[in-house]
Amino acid sequence: MATNRTFTMLKPDAVEKGHIGAILEKISASGFRIVAMKLTQMTKADAETFYAIHNERPFFAELVEYMTRGPIVAAVLEKENAVDDFRTLIGATNPAEAAEGTIRKMFADSISENAVHGSDSNDNAAIEGAFHFSGREMF
Ligand code: ADP
Ligand code: MG
Repeated sequence: MATNRTFTMLKPDAVEKGHIGAILEKISASGFRIVAMKLTQMTKADAETFYAIHNERPFFAELVEYMTRGPIVAAVLEKENAVDDFRTLIGATNPAEAAEGTIRKMFADSISENAVHGSDSNDNAAIEGAFHFSGREMF
């Protein structure tokens, strides 16, 4: 499997609870290299665009409110099989269903406030990385 990239956000709940360091430690220990990273805050328009695929879902307004309420850590990560391996590392969307040792199991409280984002395909990883970073911010 070729080395490739995924995109992640440590979401507002994880930042509020002081989990940035612990989550980044786990990401690094799992073999991901940080290619780009910053502390930032999404506007309402940003969140509506980023999560546009979910705009018909009943939780959309709640999702936009949550993702814009405070700073996030946005990052691009590189590893062999990055997208799938990172989804495995973060665990199921609902932390109650996430496997032991996954980031969501360890750091998330609910299906809505689930601590971390991970891209679901190589195409979306590229789109989501480019949403937050210019080419010269990726190393
Ligand atoms: P994932 O982040 O695991 O790819 P989805 O793409 O299905 O999950 O959903 C995007 C985000 O929307 C989730 O990470 C979570 O923050 C929120 N979300 C998903 N499902 C629900 C739900 N049933 N109720 C509230 N929020 C949800
Ligand atoms: Mg998703």
